[in-house]
Amino acid sequence: MSDCHGCSVATATLPPPPITATKQRLVAIIGPPNSGKSTLFNRLTGLRQKVANFPGVTVEHRMGRAKLDSGREVFVVDLPGVYSLNPRTEDERVTHDVLLGEMKGLPQPEAILLILDSTNLSRHLVLAAPVLSLGLPTLVILNMADDLARRGGGANVQELSEQLGAPVALVSAAKGEGLEKVFQFLDGATAIAHRKAPLMELPVIQDIPKCRAWAAKVGHQSKYRAPAPPVWTRRLDALFLHPVGGPAVFVLLVIAVFQTIFSAGKPLQDLLQPAIDASGKWVGSWIGNQSLHSLVVDGIWSGVGNVIGFLPQILLLSLFIGILEDSGYLARAALISDRTMARFGLQGKSFIPLLSAYACAVPAIMATRTIENKRDRIATILIAPFMTCSARLPVYTLVIAAFIPRRPLLGSFLGMQAAAMLGLYVLGFLAALATARLLKSTILRSSRSSFMLEMPPYRWPTVTSLGLRLLDRSKVFLGRAGTVILAVAIVIWGLTFLPPSHGDIGGSYAGRIGHAIEPAIHPLGFNWKIGIGLITSLAARETIVSTLGTIYGVEGEGGEHSPTLQQALHQDLSPGGAFALLVFFAFAMQCMSTVAVVRRETGGWKWPAAQFAYMTGLAYMCAFLANRLLASWG
Ligand code: GDP
Repeated sequence: MSDCHGCSVATATLPPPPITATKQRLVAIIGPPNSGKSTLFNRLTGLRQKVANFPGVTVEHRMGRAKLDSGREVFVVDLPGVYSLNPRTEDERVTHDVLLGEMKGLPQPEAILLILDSTNLSRHLVLAAPVLSLGLPTLVILNMADDLARRGGGANVQELSEQLGAPVALVSAAKGEGLEKVFQFLDGATAIAHRKAPLMELPVIQDIPKCRAWAAKVGHQSKYRAPAPPVWTRRLDALFLHPVGGPAVFVLLVIAVFQTIFSAGKPLQDLLQPAIDASGKWVGSWIGNQSLHSLVVDGIWSGVGNVIGFLPQILLLSLFIGILEDSGYLARAALISDRTMARFGLQGKSFIPLLSAYACAVPAIMATRTIENKRDRIATILIAPFMTCSARLPVYTLVIAAFIPRRPLLGSFLGMQAAAMLGLYVLGFLAALATARLLKSTILRSSRSSFMLEMPPYRWPTVTSLGLRLLDRSKVFLGRAGTVILAVAIVIWGLTFLPPSHGDIGGSYAGRIGHAIEPAIHPLGFNWKIGIGLITSLAARETIVSTLGTIYGVEGEGGEHSPTLQQALHQDLSPGGAFALLVFFAFAMQCMSTVAVVRRETGGWKWPAAQFAYMTGLAYMCAFLANRLLASWG
């Protein structure tokens, strides 16, 4: 069994049945990042899985049930991707603790599925040493067999198995090939004898250079043939990593993404919004009671509906980020930006969390766990909310559409509206870099860590992976619309409706609150209606859209001639005020979920409180300057 074309498992030195017939048998999947852990986990467990947090730490894991041929089930836990078991990062410590049975609330796994990328075996084998030396029954899974074969590489499963003293299976998790051997291992159905002591002395867990030398030796002695470097990866890298061409391509890509969000997103929204409005009217036509009618149509439908209308733009953005990430391009973008990041005291490892903050700061802040240096990690957490998250998109799109004409700027390649949007993204990014510089040259000063990031080969993104991503984003977005935003919309409607005796909306409780804070926000060019929106947007940014939707909806009583949100805003704000509003939203920390996650990740209120004060103060000051600047230009 020495070919790499079939997917096979060696049987010569197989260990005892990994799993005895206990009730709750646990098997852990462990492997370096990008080795295919999630793909394998999904193959084994299907939809019988859920995400959970380990007690006391912020690291997430997925737990699922695999159904075996014998009809039995085993629990499978998918651990974070690691290169070693040396507990430098939180992810590595968690993996280490789980494997040693030291994680509270989780029994020690009875067996391990160690998954390695067979096209990158010399690097990935390094992890085999500490994992095998734990002495647990382990199946070494060489994944990506399809890719290895296609590129002319080869792994001798039998030899490797003998070298490692553990069974080895060559599989393709993506194609589902060779998995029956994994199931057999799990089932303990293979006729297996006791695990032989490894033929080679295994190095001690913590000593990485020794593991490397050991891995090189094992690779050599097992006659592993590394595959030819993928031709396309080499060709594309010559361009994408070129010192001049690389950054140029990056900028062009980003511009193209924004232009598409506007040119394709707006027509989609224009289709969706009237449908939402019409459905509101239709529902309203069934409600006789006037107050109830107003609550449903003006409160809920204009409020929540105005936010939901932005779903197309948000999905388009996630789709683009997904394509860039899954294709392997983002790792290159991280590499070419490393030098720029270094100038601001950050490291390349901060780049990926910061990029994912373009979708949402919450997962981005959780993704900073891979940064070993504590000060670098805090700095990244503190600047992440400056990156333009998708909740800002509805606000930006609304204000830009109301104030900036739809005219070309650079021919058909870039329009004025897309340029304005791009400018806001750049503004957030610059604020993040400036803040990083400030932090890293003062309270969070530390020496620069070296940058290590594996460049995955370029791959076509799969429809399934992109689809799952969009589904996930839609769930989060609609989830927020159905909870926080719905609740705020109902409260705001109540405040615009009460007290019963008030004349116009200015006399309602909402109006009174708005008027009360008006002096503080007048210098920014905002009136009391925007003021109410600012207050509600402290919970979540996009709430301002729903709040204004409710206020204008109540004002216009939802009638045929009531202005659209865009028209109403145009009447209500000066250009200076509009500019100030955009700047305010670019900088302010209006998101309670982010505050909560920063508190959890930093273990106290000190950092989130300072961050909130800094961001909101900066937002106020810059919005003031923005309004003044435009006013002075007349
Ligand atoms: P994880 O980071 O270890 O969880 O890795 P993933 O499961 O996310 O896989 C990383 C990438 O490798 C994804 O783009 C997968 O589609 C791809 N992948 C996983 N298994 C295989 C495989 O057997 N063959 C090939 N060609 N690609 C695979």
